[in-house]
Amino acid sequence: MKLATKYIHAGAHPDPSTGAIMTPIYQTSTYAQEAPGKHKGYEYARSQNPTRAALEEALAAIENGKHALSFSSGVAATDAVIKLLEPGDEVIAASDMYGGTYRLFTKVFEKFGIKFHYVNMQDANNIKPFINDKTKLIWTETPTNPLMNISDIAAIAAIAKPNKILVCVDNTFASPYLQNPLDLGADIVMHSGTKYLGGHSDVIHGCLMMNDDSLREKLYFIQKSCGAVPGPQDCFLVLRGIKTLHLRMQRHCENGAKVAHFLRNHPKVGKVYWCGFEDHPGYAVAKKQMRDFGGMLSFTLKDESTESAFKVLSSTKIFSLAESLGGVESLINHPATMTHASIPREDRLKNGLSDSLIRLSVGVEDADDLIEDLNQAIG
Ligand SMILES: *Cc1c(COP(=O)(O)O)cnc(C)c1O
Repeated sequence: MKLATKYIHAGAHPDPSTGAIMTPIYQTSTYAQEAPGKHKGYEYARSQNPTRAALEEALAAIENGKHALSFSSGVAATDAVIKLLEPGDEVIAASDMYGGTYRLFTKVFEKFGIKFHYVNMQDANNIKPFINDKTKLIWTETPTNPLMNISDIAAIAAIAKPNKILVCVDNTFASPYLQNPLDLGADIVMHSGTKYLGGHSDVIHGCLMMNDDSLREKLYFIQKSCGAVPGPQDCFLVLRGIKTLHLRMQRHCENGAKVAHFLRNHPKVGKVYWCGFEDHPGYAVAKKQMRDFGGMLSFTLKDESTESAFKVLSSTKIFSLAESLGGVESLINHPATMTHASIPREDRLKNGLSDSLIRLSVGVEDADDLIEDLNQAIG
């Protein structure tokens, strides 16, 4: 089945009792049983909900996975993956990744005795020196947030596999429309469904996709036991979002490319971070593992003062100054004080995330309007 058909039909089965074409929002906490233990597969809504089941079927299909599990947020999905581990286990994680993931690893899980090594994964070989018999998981994100660095998923999986190390890829920035890590050898894909999957900035959601049955069982057990499940209305919104993912992503990519080229040619702009530029260090890998380059990019001004960056951040009229990304509307963000404030400044600077960096989530509006807005804000 071609992508466009899959996005619209995955998980969609007309409701058996009414024929409703959209899966209803099953707003219920429990289900009547005919006799003790005799039920229709639904016992209690922390464990099972039909709206969530429909969404999980769709999520698995769009990542070419056998299974999906749906969580109350992206970080809840990440949390479940780390709970596969035991004290003493080690994780090799990308040094440049979503600030909330870094915070969860360093501030929550380190104290339970899990050791994290942060490695620049733009070269997969950098992972090798950190592998030992305690290494259980490699956590990577590509493209990275907010510097758009690329790691080679197939190369990482090739290093992990002989060592029996799980590979989990945060695929939030690319979305399943642009990149499918399971096909490249990853064991688990994680998404913040809050972003491109939901697509309308109206829901917090996360998910995991995988092929292995026993991995699914272990993660389902954690989900059920820890309880970070999404409500049925949230599942409905993400399920609806998926139906237009391909249409939105096509426009995000088109607009992202136009805005990236406009910024690169602007005399006041310094560096533009977008993985679709042929001279981007990860371009060849991005071209190999992604279908297109997406609508996320970051840039600095030639005048690197924080004041000048702040002036741009507060002068746009169409781009709203806000955290998050992946919605139909364009957003502008200051990683150092907003999305990445949870990373200590010296670590941010070490990874190339300067105080004057501006991140854009380019939406699906008219590209000319977006460019005009940035042009007047940069001045
Ligand atoms: C937003 C985000 C997360 C966290 O997801 P939430 O839904 O906010 O919990 C994780 N990774 C990336 C890349 C993100 O952008």
